[in-house]
Amino acid sequence: MSELSKKVTDLYQKHHFNMYRRFPLTLIKGEGCRVWDDEGKEYIDALAGIAVNSVGHSHPNVVRAISEQANKLIHISNIYHNVPQSSLAKLLTQLSGLDRVYFTNSGLEANEGALKLARKYGDQQGKKGPVISFENCFHGRSIGTIAMGKENYQKGFGPMPEGFMQLPYNDVEALGRIDDDAIAVFVEVIQGEGGIVPGNQEFLEKLGEVCRKKDILLVIDEIQTGIGRTGKMFAFEYYSLKPDILTLAKGLGGGVPIGAVLATEKVASMFQPGDHGTTFGGNPLACAAALATITTIMEEHLTEAAIEQGNYLRNALNMLASEVDEIKEVRGIGLMWGVEFIFPCREIALKMMERGVLVSCTNNTVIRIVPPLTISREELDSVIGALAGAVEEYINSL
Ligand code: PLP
Repeated sequence: MSELSKKVTDLYQKHHFNMYRRFPLTLIKGEGCRVWDDEGKEYIDALAGIAVNSVGHSHPNVVRAISEQANKLIHISNIYHNVPQSSLAKLLTQLSGLDRVYFTNSGLEANEGALKLARKYGDQQGKKGPVISFENCFHGRSIGTIAMGKENYQKGFGPMPEGFMQLPYNDVEALGRIDDDAIAVFVEVIQGEGGIVPGNQEFLEKLGEVCRKKDILLVIDEIQTGIGRTGKMFAFEYYSLKPDILTLAKGLGGGVPIGAVLATEKVASMFQPGDHGTTFGGNPLACAAALATITTIMEEHLTEAAIEQGNYLRNALNMLASEVDEIKEVRGIGLMWGVEFIFPCREIALKMMERGVLVSCTNNTVIRIVPPLTISREELDSVIGALAGAVEEYINSL
């Protein structure tokens, strides 16, 4: 371990909250799909800051937009208008087909805002029913969003707020338990933190139908799937779904923290001045970064690239799975893939890191591959090679 790494690790152990199970790696530079550690070792970043750096590290367009904006104006609060925010609002509403947007700083904040919006809507409609979410979902780590999520994230943080109900995911029959009085349903089209679990067509389309018929808000959480990740700008476009509320973050700002809540006119009108707000959300710097990120995705045809490279990756992963009995399943779409093992996979992620490829282990048994949308064939070959090598080494060590 280098002197710098040792110093950083010691400081982490001494001064930081012990919240993250960090890998023993200090990164100091990134470019495209590559990152470098403090000793100059190069890695292919197939995690992309957990599905964030969709146009790669330090894309020149994003760097230019950030530096130009930083030279002009970084922050002004939401008491005044700002130009990049209004341009981003126009672009996102056009792309999503929704009418209005407000900006947040993260994913959980977007979902927490969506929750408030949904409750206000429910209140106006005289509904007393629950907000529904699905088993194995992840919507963030605030009290409101853990109340929607998995029980193990709630442990020790009770009492949980009332008014929530969970149903099994991908279970069409269970949708029959959604009562007319329910306020909203939060759903990930592909469960991300849950281990890359795609929603099936019949389930998602039936869900859309139930929501429409019973006037229940359909809240689609595209914090991980949105902004080109799955090969469409938004993953809901694969289905005949129309969200009433759409939440975004992660890939939106090319690495700069920003989230968004989009809604139809009818739903957005629930928030009036004083109902909700944020100091930083949608500041000029973050919005300039997001504008540059989305424009780059469109100009460089990165949604098409995500489909093409994703198909290549899928075939290679399926090939590997056919040779390795310990791989239970390969799941995903576009450039969002999960390889589920029959055992915990953190060791495999560590061994891939030693081989110069960064991925994460999510939901204990799933290697998550969510590289920048700009990843090349050669880089994907290295990812697959590192996975195959790490799996072989790990299995031999058992
Ligand atoms: N929703 C989904 C689907 C996510 O994947 C995440 C983060 O992983 C969140 C919400 C929370 O986002 P954040 O970590 O920015 O609060």
